[in-house]
Amino acid sequence: MNVIIKQQLIESVAKKLIEHADELTALDQAVGDGDHGLNMKRGFEAILADCETHAAKPFPDMLKGIGTQLVMKVGGASGPLYGTLFMAFAKEVTDPPTLDGACKALGAAIEAVKARGKSEPGQKTMLDVLVPVHAEWSSGGADLGKRLLDKAKSASESTIPMKAIRGRASFLGDRSIGHMDPGARSSQLMIEAIIQVLGES
Ligand code: ADP
Ligand code: MG
Repeated sequence: MNVIIKQQLIESVAKKLIEHADELTALDQAVGDGDHGLNMKRGFEAILADCETHAAKPFPDMLKGIGTQLVMKVGGASGPLYGTLFMAFAKEVTDPPTLDGACKALGAAIEAVKARGKSEPGQKTMLDVLVPVHAEWSSGGADLGKRLLDKAKSASESTIPMKAIRGRASFLGDRSIGHMDPGARSSQLMIEAIIQVLGES
């Protein structure tokens, strides 16, 4: 995969998460401990600082390196889970990636997150964005980028009425209802940032 595209992907995702840190913090203040924005900002600032080194590596090694940094720098529940997502994706994906191959790799990566988090969709977590977006991608067809953007948005919004069953938000029980899950929102932001680089078609 082209070095410039790899750099653009890293910069786009990192800058998006850094820009939205306050929003993610506010979401996590409502249902958690208010650290998700700072956690993600710290992780992606470290990744951005190493952008050239990451981008110089073959695509799977780049993703593995990013996953490792997420585990080490983000912390909380989301650091190991996002780290697992990137590292498991890296294990499956080819360089250069194909559309179908990358879709299968995301499926395997989601399974790894489920195993690590002992979680399933419907529990008000990042999986409530990742799983429906992967399903939409698997269905193929035209206008894929635009459809994935729409799906990511509706999927993060779908976490608002959910009751949290996993993570810190589950301590709130019914009081977690009525707020968007911070990890669902950060997953949506990552997907938007990737599609902004790869295009909507
Ligand atoms: P912490 O909850 O330790 O403070 P963060 O605030 O960084 O960590 O991340 C919280 C997010 O992590 C949640 O909004 C949710 O999306 C995700 N999350 C937490 N636990 C799980 C889990 N078991 N499976 C999947 N995602 C989870
Ligand atoms: Mg938190």
